[in-house]
Amino acid sequence: MRSYLVGASILGVALTALAADAPSTSGIDLKAMDTSIAPCENFYQYACGGWKKANPIPADQSRWGRFQELKERNLEMERTILEKASHPSANRTEVEQKIGDYYASCMDEKGIEAAGLRPIRRMLDAIAGLQSKKDLTAEVSRLHEDGVDAFFGFFARPDQKDSAIEIANVGQGGLGLPDRDYYLKTEPRFAELRKQYEETVGKMLGMLGGRGYDAAAVMRIETALAKASLDRVALRNPDNTYHKMTVAELEALSPEFDFHQYLARVPKFGSLNVSEPDFVKGMNAVIAASSLEDLKTYLVWHVLASYAELLPKAYRDAAFAFYGKTLRGQKEQQVRWKQCVNATDDALGDALGEKFVEAAFSGTSKQRALALVGEIEKSMAKDIEEAHWMTSATKDQALTKLHRVTNKIGYPDKWKNYSSVKIERGDYFGNSVRAAKFEIRRNLAKIGKATDKSEWGMTPPTVNAYYSPPMNNINFPAGILQPPFYNPKADDAVNLGAIGVVIGHELTHGFDDQGRRFDGKGNLRDWWTAADAKAFEERAECFVKEYEGFSPVPGVHLNGKLTLGENAADNGGIHLAYMALLRALEKQMLTKADGFTPQQRFFLGFAQIWCENSTEESARLRAMTDPHSPGEFRVNGVVRNMRAFREAFSCKAGEPMVPANSCRIW
Ligand SMILES: [Zn+2]
Repeated sequence: MRSYLVGASILGVALTALAADAPSTSGIDLKAMDTSIAPCENFYQYACGGWKKANPIPADQSRWGRFQELKERNLEMERTILEKASHPSANRTEVEQKIGDYYASCMDEKGIEAAGLRPIRRMLDAIAGLQSKKDLTAEVSRLHEDGVDAFFGFFARPDQKDSAIEIANVGQGGLGLPDRDYYLKTEPRFAELRKQYEETVGKMLGMLGGRGYDAAAVMRIETALAKASLDRVALRNPDNTYHKMTVAELEALSPEFDFHQYLARVPKFGSLNVSEPDFVKGMNAVIAASSLEDLKTYLVWHVLASYAELLPKAYRDAAFAFYGKTLRGQKEQQVRWKQCVNATDDALGDALGEKFVEAAFSGTSKQRALALVGEIEKSMAKDIEEAHWMTSATKDQALTKLHRVTNKIGYPDKWKNYSSVKIERGDYFGNSVRAAKFEIRRNLAKIGKATDKSEWGMTPPTVNAYYSPPMNNINFPAGILQPPFYNPKADDAVNLGAIGVVIGHELTHGFDDQGRRFDGKGNLRDWWTAADAKAFEERAECFVKEYEGFSPVPGVHLNGKLTLGENAADNGGIHLAYMALLRALEKQMLTKADGFTPQQRFFLGFAQIWCENSTEESARLRAMTDPHSPGEFRVNGVVRNMRAFREAFSCKAGEPMVPANSCRIW
């Protein structure tokens, strides 16, 4: 599932509890602009320069933009809900008891200190007690049930070639650094990061006391797993991760790890998908080559790394020093209440989401959002019909797929029932692990069953949106259907530039480098003629080259192939929203407002959702791992490709926002 910052509806999805933050009449944030620079020189700076200057990165963030601003507002609302629910009272509902006591247990730092390492002692003792490598399978199985990430992932998801059915999947995993490339790159920066990571591993293992652990063993095992892993660009092609096989075939890949025994805990099935067979072989090789002591050390580290947030402050601080400060440039940890709101959202997202929606999402919002989605879909149909580079055979298939896209707005039709999850005040660790186990069991229970397309991959307060290829649906949580994405006080031009582009972005994902490989039923199937596929690839290559030219940090360039799908969605999404604007202008003449034409307001509304500041560390991390381009290039990379932009701001050939070549798929 791929997510993306995108947003919601136009005709009025908004949350009335929040005031629109635009001081102007149209909805453009005039204070955010920097009019000392010309729009054709650097449109991002023109639209966002004032905002960037006035909004330095808070010490508890590594990146600060309009998404994070809105997320903070949502956190405040959730805090109010959770503090009220955490007061013990006889008339709390079951949902209020769960979320209130979960939050209270997280806020109980004294209790967490007093518990010390007791909650993980049982796991540490079990690992210490392993007698031979034959015991490894049972231990990894227990750790996976408790939510510890070790060696590989095991989960249910729709069969990519028969998406109506959920199947079991084995996928690469087991790393402590953010990406395989962190283990393999030879530049001094990465050698230094590896040294600091190994020191963190050594320090945290040392805090357990008792016998010494060898942090170098963790590095050896993880480096071997990294070498056997596919990189992020290879992972974008779903053909690379589809390898359906029998359990016997999986067992043959890894004689050192007893998958037959591992799978005994789930109902029997005939075949499963092994996303990366070479990874499983690599895992087998590293288990064969490692001593039992080294394997134990690796497992102990993964217990610590998985649970550091639930342990006493010394462990949280040690983990933050590396993962927050060193990797992201974040100066301080978030205050406790923010950590605990986020933790409750992670653990009991539907329960907190139910209360959030009651407080923040009005009854008419869904209908208004759907109306806007309908407008953008109309644009997409027209855009496909008019694509001169595509033959009618492929166009027919594309339109069939488009008409099968379903829309989910705000929140799920039915909430998850957490009644079987015991939540107790004073047991934060237990609460968190029980909630994680509930999710893991719920997921594995799907194996062999029909796919439930009504299920959501994000919780309602989330400031984001996504397209799901196997479900062929676009999803907009309530959290993003608010200003500045959708602003009921702003005019249509501004809202189409903001939330309209977000909707267009998600819809275009169905037809990007990944999405185009799935059909309208969500199945991995090639519905393209060879010539049309070639034309698509050539057009895509234009974006790859364009974005590779962008540099977020001196010496670092964006990965054009990693960011291709998102860049294609950004570029396509804005065209779809712009087509909707032109139709709106035919019906109703919009005049100048705040000194800008409707077309100019559209582009400003679009650009201003991407205003952001980022630490250098975070920009580097995202250039390696994030399929999304940074805000600056999401704006300038897109408007450079649009004739409508040049016309709106009277840009001339040779100006920076008017390149010699422009790229276009959708
Ligand atoms: Zn996206």
